[in-house]
Amino acid sequence: MAVVSAGSACVFAELLTEFDIHAAAVFQVQPADGATPVLVAAQVETSEWRMPCPAAPLLAGELRRRGVPAQVVRVATPEVAASGESRGSGDDRPEVVADPKDVALFRAAAETVSAVAFLHMPKQEWSAFGLPGKAANVRQALRSWGAAAGARRVLLAGPRSFCAGVERAIKIVERALASYGSPLYVRKQIVHNIHIVRDLERRGVVFVDELDEVPRGAAVVFSAHGVSPAVRQAALVRELRVVDATCPLVTKVHIEAKRFARRGDTVVLIGHAGHEETEGTLGQVPDRMVLVESEEDVDRLSIDGPVSYLTQTTLAEDEVKGVIDALRHRFPLLRGPGSADICYATSNRQDAVRAIAADSDLVLVVGSVNSSNSQRLVEVARRCGTEAHLIDDVSDLDPAWLVGARTVGLTAGASAPAKLVTEVVDALRGLGDVVVEERHTAEETVEFGLPRELRQALAADPPASNGYPHEVIQP
Ligand code: SF4
Repeated sequence: MAVVSAGSACVFAELLTEFDIHAAAVFQVQPADGATPVLVAAQVETSEWRMPCPAAPLLAGELRRRGVPAQVVRVATPEVAASGESRGSGDDRPEVVADPKDVALFRAAAETVSAVAFLHMPKQEWSAFGLPGKAANVRQALRSWGAAAGARRVLLAGPRSFCAGVERAIKIVERALASYGSPLYVRKQIVHNIHIVRDLERRGVVFVDELDEVPRGAAVVFSAHGVSPAVRQAALVRELRVVDATCPLVTKVHIEAKRFARRGDTVVLIGHAGHEETEGTLGQVPDRMVLVESEEDVDRLSIDGPVSYLTQTTLAEDEVKGVIDALRHRFPLLRGPGSADICYATSNRQDAVRAIAADSDLVLVVGSVNSSNSQRLVEVARRCGTEAHLIDDVSDLDPAWLVGARTVGLTAGASAPAKLVTEVVDALRGLGDVVVEERHTAEETVEFGLPRELRQALAADPPASNGYPHEVIQP
């Protein structure tokens, strides 16, 4: 390992030589504008060569967790920058121009040692940029990042990532944008993934919590998690043009709730309080439904007359079983849905994570914190006895988790784009040799049609794709 510094003394030289790592990253400290003093290069490019640094987002995330503002950039020589022909096409990260001599030193070092950190910032200038307090944090981030280096096996769970309901919901928003224009209002997050939400916001979508934030007469999309009849009524009153992206498997639960209530049952919904799907389902027959989250909640129920149950679609089967058993014990004539409410995508992803967890030292689940099915995947992996963490993307990956983890299980919740999984594999490859093995436990062929209001527009102008391509991961 070597450190190439454009300045004289290097703060981290002695520290970095402690590690024999197989990662290359460049970082540079810019004159302070206050916001992003540390730039981490995901790619270094000259007119003759281009070197990717795939572990850069991981290092940037570690810097941020330690209170050091960091941004992932592309580094180019002045010649490349002036030509405007950077080969980072498709990579919209900002381009930063570096001195060709420094870039050449980086290249030379990267070819002869296992890893390189390239510091533009001489030690004595740290204080001039107001960073002395952060230097120790940068040092710790580098230590942590370096300690995570090494060869690994990655076990990919299959299926993972998008389900048919999420694919459909995103497509609905895209078609509605094309048909109604921007701004297009969406009530709640269309699916529970922050990357998708931010991307759609950039394309002209305005996410709102409630319909009174939507101008009268505007178009509004209901999210995949479904809404109560009261929300539909509010949309009517405001004369909104509604496009409903409720997943058909959530709609199935709504229909069951109404049917069970019509026959006189009290309907016990097993689900998580406050989740949008749960609220939408409870709202179908609010005076006939009650929510339970646990077996303890079942003990507290006081119901006269017939009882039936339903479940949120994204729960864990092993978690729900105990609650259903408790309900049966309390209400021996309990009736349930004709087929399980936990959807095929949730079940398949849980089976798949079980198939990799036992052979993994660590399981990473890509998904957002408000994604119920992603949270359940973490819990399922932990119940298999394996350390597991939820990450929104690679920058959430704490290098400390990777120390000693030679086999990393990897999956993604039903609302997480496949591209984010690819980025995790790439980052691990930036830390050393990686062999990818996929364990596929189910084929998914489910597809849902679009709502009537959008089918006509689709027939006239079919979409190329939903803008979230499937991943390509080399074994
Ligand atoms: S996780 Fe299941 S219920 Fe939720 S959108 Fe996907 S298919 Fe529909």
